Amino acid sequence: MIDATNLRKRFGALEVLHDVSVGIRTGAVTALVGPNGSGKTTLIKIVLGLARADAGVFSVNGQPADEAGAYRRHIGYMPQAARFPENLRVRDVLELVRALRPDAPRDEELISAFRLALEMDKLVGTLSGGTRQKVNAAIAFLFRPSLLILDEPTAGLDPIASGILKDKIRQLRGEGRSVLITSHILTELEELADDVAFLCDGHLRFSGSVAALLERTGERRLEAAIAALMRSERARTADPLPESVGPLGWLPVEVEPS
Ligand code: ADP
Repeated sequence: MIDATNLRKRFGALEVLHDVSVGIRTGAVTALVGPNGSGKTTLIKIVLGLARADAGVFSVNGQPADEAGAYRRHIGYMPQAARFPENLRVRDVLELVRALRPDAPRDEELISAFRLALEMDKLVGTLSGGTRQKVNAAIAFLFRPSLLILDEPTAGLDPIASGILKDKIRQLRGEGRSVLITSHILTELEELADDVAFLCDGHLRFSGSVAALLERTGERRLEAAIAALMRSERARTADPLPESVGPLGWLPVEVEPS
């Protein structure tokens, strides 16, 4: 679906992405993980066309991503905290978004699954955080995207809403669409992810299947495997975790050939 090659990004003196080459497979859920400040959001912004890489290229379905960004119409994006005009009603926000692409096929299933009909007349500014997040999710899925990018999608959702969203993500994958997801809830990623891309200080330290990551780290759970990656990075950069966290060992993590 997406293949990025040698992406580089710098903000002033700070090198945020160092020659990152990573793929997002069609019909798979890829978890993008890494410590805070490792470059995840920057990478997502480049794919969304909201930031420009200083070097490197990426292609979408085998075609180089064009300057005009026509490929973006196939992407649904759920930001961590969506900002909608506070003085609009939920119904107006949805209408505005629908009007952006009147002829595109739509998927309104989340609107009914989240029972947003009950919220339609409320001003966005008065919504609870969870309801706002439901509107955010419903919009991300609205135009049946081929690639869905979800940034901490279940943050603020109650367990029922969170389950509905996870089922929807699985449904999309089942339809052969691709999902890129970031989350600090590793158990959630464990439920959903097929592949993992691990960024640390702008370096891609692992990219491959969950099974390959478990094998590489000798762990049985994704959460422990990612903790092992983080420990090995800290050890390598002489910033070890406290001893209580356990023995530190450098893992020779490599990027899996795609
Ligand atoms: P993550 O999403 O993994 O937490 P980010 O991509 O947001 O990481 O940030 C990576 C690094 O780039 C951080 O050090 C952050 O402070 C810096 N950064 C991000 N955006 C900008 C910007 N617009 N200007 C300057 N520095 C930035």
